This record gives sequence, C-alpha cells and structure tokens, in this order.
Amino acid sequence: MKTFDYIVIGGGSGGIASANRAGMHGAKVLLIEGNELGGTCVNVGCVPKKVMWSASQMNDMLHHQAYEYGFDVTVDGFDMARLVENRQTYIKRLNGLYLKGLESNGVTHIKGYAKFKEKNVVEVNGETFTAPHILIATGGKIIRPNIPGAEYGIDSNGFFELTELPKRVAVVGAGYIAVEIAGVLHGLGATTHLAFRRDTFLREFDDLLIQGLTESYEKSGMNLHANSVPKSVEKTASGYVLSFENGKSIEVDEIVWAIGRVPNMDGLNLDVTDVELTDKGAIKVDQYQNTTQEGIYAVGDVIDKINLTPVAIAAGRRLSERLFNNQDNLYLEYHTVPTVVFSHPAIGTVGLTEKEAREQYGEDVKIYTSRFTPMQFAITEVREKCWMKLVCVGKEERIVGLHGIGLGVDEMLQGFAVAVRMGATKADFDQTVAIHPTGAEEFVTMR
Ligand code: FAD
Ligand code: NDP
Repeated sequence: MKTFDYIVIGGGSGGIASANRAGMHGAKVLLIEGNELGGTCVNVGCVPKKVMWSASQMNDMLHHQAYEYGFDVTVDGFDMARLVENRQTYIKRLNGLYLKGLESNGVTHIKGYAKFKEKNVVEVNGETFTAPHILIATGGKIIRPNIPGAEYGIDSNGFFELTELPKRVAVVGAGYIAVEIAGVLHGLGATTHLAFRRDTFLREFDDLLIQGLTESYEKSGMNLHANSVPKSVEKTASGYVLSFENGKSIEVDEIVWAIGRVPNMDGLNLDVTDVELTDKGAIKVDQYQNTTQEGIYAVGDVIDKINLTPVAIAAGRRLSERLFNNQDNLYLEYHTVPTVVFSHPAIGTVGLTEKEAREQYGEDVKIYTSRFTPMQFAITEVREKCWMKLVCVGKEERIVGLHGIGLGVDEMLQGFAVAVRMGATKADFDQTVAIHPTGAEEFVTMR
C-alpha cells in the first residue's frame, strides 16, 4: 500500500484547487479522478455553457443590433457542429492545462474511481493508498423526473452533446440551468418553451430579477409555462408530447430536463467510515470542511451549500492552507457570495434579497431601484432594459444586497461584490464618481 500526505478524490473545481495548493506547500498528494480533469465546470458546466451563451449573444447582435449600427450583415447559416467542435477543442486544451498544473505542483494523478476500503484507505484500479488526510470532492449528479417517458428527454450533459439546433424544444425546470439553457436555445433560434412547476422560476432570487427576466423572455418570444408540473412524455411520429398535470401539453423535438442536482457519492463506500450525511443527503461538514470522520474532509457540490465553482475552489484552497501551511483558523465564509446567471440578459446578484432583508431587519430596510435602457440599445429597435436594486439597512444605509439584470451586469458584479463584502454604505456609493457612459454608473447614482 502506498502512503501519501493527502489523497483527493475528485479532480473537479474543488479537488484540483485543493490538491495543487497542498502540493505547493510541499505535501505528497494523490489526486484520483474517474473522468476528464476539470470536473463538471470544465467539461459539462460553466465552460461549455459560457461558450454557448456567447454564441447566443452574438446571434442577437447580428440579427437585432448590427443593422441599426450600419452593418448590412447577411448571415448564411449557423453551423452548430462547428461551434461545438471549437468548444470541445478548447475544453481538451483546458484538460491538458489542468494536468500540467498538477504535474508542476508535484501532484500524482491517477485516472479511476476511488472507493473507501477503510477509514483511511482508498482503493482505485485495484491498488490501495493511505493518507492521514483525505478530501472528498466528488461533486454532484443530475436528477430526472420520475414520470413515464422521462427517458425521451436529455439533461444538461445531453444538451452539450447536441450538434444540431432542435427546431422546437422544451426546457423543464426553474433554476440556473433551466433559464440558462432555455436562453441559449431561444437566442440561437429554436422555438423554445420553458416550463416550471410554480408561478415563477428562480424563486430564491430577488423579485426584481425575476420580473426583469420574465419580461425579457416574454418580450423576446420565449414561451413560458408557469404552474406546469410535468406528467408524462409520449413519443409521436412528429416529435415528443410533453404533458403537464394542469391538463396542457406541448409538442417539441427535444426535451431538456433541468430540475436539479444532488450530491454524488456513488461507489464511494462511505459505510466503512463514520462520515455522516445531512437530512438532504449531502456530506455533513463543519465550518473547516471537517466531516464527522477525523481525517476526512469534503468541499464543493458534495456538501450542497453553495454549488458554484469559485466556492468549491475557495473552500479547497483554504482547507489545504489549514492542513499544510499552518493557517489553523482559515475557513471559507459562506456568505456574500456573488453569483451570475447567464440568462439573456444576464443576472448578477450578491447579498440579501429585499424579502430576506425585510425578514431580518424589518422596517430598517431601504430600497433603491433603477430601470433604464443601456446606451447600446439607444439606436436599435430592440430595447432590452436593465434593472438594478440596492438593498440598504439602518441609518447608515449599509448595502446588504445588490442585484441587477441587463447588459453587462455579469461583468459589473465582481467589483461591487468587494464593496458589499467590505460593508459599503449608500453614501460610499454616492461619493464614488461615476464612469460615463456605462450601465454600471447607475449603481452609484441611484436616488
Ligand atoms: P465537480 O466539478 O463536479 O468535480 C467532481 C469530480 O469528481 C468529477 O470530475 C467526477 O468525475 C469525480 N468523481 C466523482 N466520484 C469519483 C470517485 N469515486 N473517484 C474519482 N473521481 C470521482 N458554477 C459556476 O460558478 N458558474 C457557472 O457558470 C456554472 N455553470 C454551470 C453549468 C452547468 C450546466 C452545471 C451542471 C454546473 C454549473 N456550475 C457553475 C456549477 C459548477 O460546475 C459546480 O459547482 C462545480 O463544478 C463543483 O465543483 P466540485 O469540485 O464540487 O465538483
Ligand atoms: P437548481 O437547484 O438551481 O434548480 C432546479 C429547480 O427545478 C428547483 O429549484 C425546482 O424549482 C425545480 N424542480 C425540482 N424538481 C422538479 C420537478 N420534479 N419538476 C419540475 N421542476 C422541478 O438546479 P440546477 O440543476 O438548475 O442547477 C444546479 C446548481 O448548479 C445551481 O443551483 C447552481 O448552484 C449551479 N449552477 C450555477 C450556474 C451559474 O453560476 N451561472 C449555472 C448552472 C448551475 P421550484 O421549486 O421553483 O419548482
């Protein structure tokens, strides 16, 4: 049996970041990954999604903005297969860069699926390894509805396998993935239906963002189906009929299920350890990422706290700083985490929603909002609005929530997130001189 200082199970966002950081501090590290390096984000998540989102934005510019800007553009077609090929070449390059990164930090990498043999022993490809510290960073897995005909639909992994744009498509779900994939397909020209089981999508987001995206999607011609619980799918001669419990149905050529993800512990054999799970089936950890089994830690989607790549990375790196660089009290604070939904237009949000702030601070909450047309649309027929909101608390008007939807908010958010995290007040925003003409200046000029 070979001995390491640190064994990392899962070579995705959290695992790779933690393994590299431990290696940088001189630890002898083994990283075990059953699939391609980079995990969900690189292979079937953030990266291919962002490429598809950019393609969709480009299509919008070509068809709905270029003419008014003086360009007589003739688009002869859209070769989705070419786009996908270029995207996958880029991803292959990233897989290689991750391998080089591990090598340069002295991390040993094995391809294979790991399982626990004992509390501190892991088996992969028939070989066993032990270490005083073992990280579980095995991510999440997709769930599908348990209804007749569910197998006719694809999921986000299947979406990334498409090399042709379906003519008519239904996306079922109400979270990030549903609104993002529906936005991409619609933006690329598919007749798109977005079906969700309650009165709206993105229910945990601020109302202003929900309202803004609903308006944008409706105006752009996407078919929104609220209060539509999927009941069954039937294959017909001309496509698939997706029926809902409310009695309605739609016929499409492709169905994309996007109803959520759950922590992935498949095959890990955690029973031989004392690792406990939460009520929701995630690995239970304390603020230092310690599981209930000494010497075993967990980060990322497998703990199901905030399922974002930078969160998994930050938690993984802090853990390695603590274990291998004497930073005994270092941990990730799971609050004021900024996030962007790559819808059309994009949503950017950090901190409390207005509803959450009112529940927490009652009358002490003051709201500032702005709604405007970004200058890029000043001369175009398409007039996509931008909506913004500041949620402030107390006499000093500390900004506890900042929300935006519209052109460029995805790129605006990071800097504002620093300010919110530092405890900026409305007066700090007011005293910051605006940058003109931009959309971002609206955040510092609200009345
Ligand atoms: P993962 O990246 O999922 O990595 C886990 C790895 O563990 C996998 O590679 C898996 O093969 C491996 N593994 C599992 N079991 C074993 C085993 N027993 N042995 C060996 N290896 C194993 N987040 C963002 O921040 N921004 C985005 O824009 C964004 N877009 C997304 C779009 C989609 C479609 C999806 C699905 C997710 C998106 N996410 C996004 C979320 C992000 O991808 C995840 O939060 C992130 O990848 C979690 O990292 P992780 O390290 O916990 O797990
Ligand atoms: P989410 O958990 O975000 O959303 C899934 C939603 O689908 C649920 O909230 C629920 O909404 C609805 N739903 C659940 N079950 C059913 C059902 N049986 N029938 C119909 N609808 C159902 O999951 P996603 O898969 O969209 O995304 C997973 C995570 O990945 C995200 O939470 C996010 O953390 C991350 N991600 C991040 C991205 C980014 O940063 N841009 C992009 C993509 C993913 P309701 O209860 O309202 O019906």
